[in-house]
Amino acid sequence: MRSELATCKADLMNEVSLYIKNEDSIALIDKAYNFAYEQHDGQFRKSGEPYFVHVLNVAYILAELRVGPSTIAAGLLHDTIEDCDVTSEQMTAMFSAEITMLVEAVTKIGNLEFKDEKEYLAANHRKIFIALAKDVRVILIKLVDRLHNMRTLQFMKPEKQAKIASETLEVYAPIAHRLGISEIKNELEDLSFHYLHPEDYYMIAKLVENKKAERDQQVTRMISDIGTNLAMHDIPYRIFGRSKHLYSIYKKMETKNKRFDEILDLLAIRIITKSITNCYEVLGHIHATYRPIPGRLKDYIAMPKMNMYQSLHTTIVGDEGRIFEVQIRTEDMDSIAEKGIAAHWAYKEGKQYDPRSEQKEIEEKLSIFKDLDAVTKDVSESASDFMDAITKDIFEANVYVMTPKGRVIGLPNGATTIDFAYRVHTEVGHSTVGAVVNEMLVPLNTVLKTGDVVQIRTSKQSNGPSEDWLKFVNTNQAKNKIRNFLLKKEVERKAEFTDKGEQLLRDEFRKRSFNEKEFMEHKKLESFYKDFQVSNYVDFMYAIAVKSISASAVVEKITNGKQTKVMDTERLSKIYAKETADRKKQATSKSGIYVAGVDSMKITIAQCCSPIPGDNIAGYITKGEGVKVHRDTCPNIINEKKRLITVEWEEIKDGKYEASIATLAHDRNFLLTDLVTVVSQYKASLTYVNSVVNNDSLTTTTKMTLLVTNIDHLHIIMTNLRKVNNVISVERTIK
Ligand code: MN
Repeated sequence: MRSELATCKADLMNEVSLYIKNEDSIALIDKAYNFAYEQHDGQFRKSGEPYFVHVLNVAYILAELRVGPSTIAAGLLHDTIEDCDVTSEQMTAMFSAEITMLVEAVTKIGNLEFKDEKEYLAANHRKIFIALAKDVRVILIKLVDRLHNMRTLQFMKPEKQAKIASETLEVYAPIAHRLGISEIKNELEDLSFHYLHPEDYYMIAKLVENKKAERDQQVTRMISDIGTNLAMHDIPYRIFGRSKHLYSIYKKMETKNKRFDEILDLLAIRIITKSITNCYEVLGHIHATYRPIPGRLKDYIAMPKMNMYQSLHTTIVGDEGRIFEVQIRTEDMDSIAEKGIAAHWAYKEGKQYDPRSEQKEIEEKLSIFKDLDAVTKDVSESASDFMDAITKDIFEANVYVMTPKGRVIGLPNGATTIDFAYRVHTEVGHSTVGAVVNEMLVPLNTVLKTGDVVQIRTSKQSNGPSEDWLKFVNTNQAKNKIRNFLLKKEVERKAEFTDKGEQLLRDEFRKRSFNEKEFMEHKKLESFYKDFQVSNYVDFMYAIAVKSISASAVVEKITNGKQTKVMDTERLSKIYAKETADRKKQATSKSGIYVAGVDSMKITIAQCCSPIPGDNIAGYITKGEGVKVHRDTCPNIINEKKRLITVEWEEIKDGKYEASIATLAHDRNFLLTDLVTVVSQYKASLTYVNSVVNNDSLTTTTKMTLLVTNIDHLHIIMTNLRKVNNVISVERTIK
């Protein structure tokens, strides 16, 4: 690349004409030129130059990189969406969807906004950059745009210069390096260096200048000696000395802690020859003539670098003990070394120009920017390694998405739109009703990808986060905010229930002509918590509100039966004590069990395993107490086979049988009342309830004994107990 600036249309068209001959292609560039020229009319840069000079030079440098006509057109148009009022529709109508896509992507990258410098390190910035570009042409345009801005940075304010220069050094130069475009990389580095460390820059520049004559002399002599040698062996060659760019000298001094002399003493020569075989021949002749330094031979032809760089490197000792670094490569390799990816995909004009062929060719080679799976076998090995490396950069990192305004938000892999919403703002999260990703309405559990533009729809009428969201959110922030919200809602709900419970209780007192104020003091009620198996006032009122404890039973208990009893069929164990006792009597007096051939025998149901109709049972002949009926799985009879007899259930209507169950649940308020509610819903009576909190695991074990009709009845109750929130398991127990 020659690096001079273009000053007029003729400069650009001359450069273009060196490799683009097709009339339609020239016409396209011409049209883009005229359109951009009109659009930027009246705009000026800080330097005082017309703004158009900037886009002209971007297009010119792109032409030097030998890109296709669409890319040059996009280079000319790259600032018209941002700075002029050109719409995407207009651009597509005038040019093509392809050119619009290029310009839009360039604009999008230009609008990236990094709010928190610490959070969004340069490495992340690079990843977003590449992911957003999706197309190497976008990266090329953006790099060239930055290159020209860096060349004209002197007109900016010093703070702005430093900011842009460090971004260039940390983001743009590494991308240029990654794509193998060392020409641009070196220039970006030296320009940044100049603005970031001016004193070091001038110091090194001066030292290089001072040594130049001496070095030139040594290099010239070496070049002539090697040249003579190669000519003698009939090997085609081009040979020249090369100078290291200033920033690489500076970096070596900094990182390797070397003196300037040591670095500059390394003299460098490059030999360009025709074929790969020639490269190895040249190497052979040089090693035969000069002593190579062990361990310094690098064969990047057999094993190319990630960015497709190929060359032979060796270090030899020349005349007077001078050390020379020698690079040997073909013309093609040299072009790739300088232009990198741009050389690899340099535009080659076909006989019949198809405006889509340029797009297609690059798309095929760059499928990686779209999809991992697209790395196909026909991509050469070096290229696929390179792609793998870039892919890793992009996909193994966090996910970076953007607000429609370009603010970058970093999220862990697997994050969804809800995580995004809460990262933007808690209130946004709470009032989310929909999500739009890349202009498409998507489900809220959609997993986000780097480069996605995410917009959250909110509504004041939203009910707030739902418990379902907890199933797919991925950030702790979102999880905590949702949990807090739900908890607060639960508290509010409880307050409602407390009011309702108090109201029911108050009505009940009034109905019976009691002065409720006398009885409804918290302190007074507290002494009855135990009787009703509740642990606090809120639970108590909740239970009354949902009618798992009847208000009349409470009033009855508190007033000590002073008033006429109004019986309620749904009550907790102690309240039902009398009724339960009656039922128990019924159950034992008529067991409902039939023993073949034994009529008069006393039959009782074993208390240990409490079989109920439907259970498989066995009779155990006791000494003097008749037959005890156990479940056939009961451990108490399992080793007593000799004393067992066959027994069968008789059909008994409305029999009541005891069954014991244990429920394990994560502890929470109202758990007990919810469990009891289920039991009463299915018309079973409770004869025993005991709830124990297991402090180390924060779980509760609730043991209950119920009176049920048969096994089906019990199973329905157990199934529904399992559905109660927080319940882990429900098991039938054996005492
Ligand atoms: Mn620009």
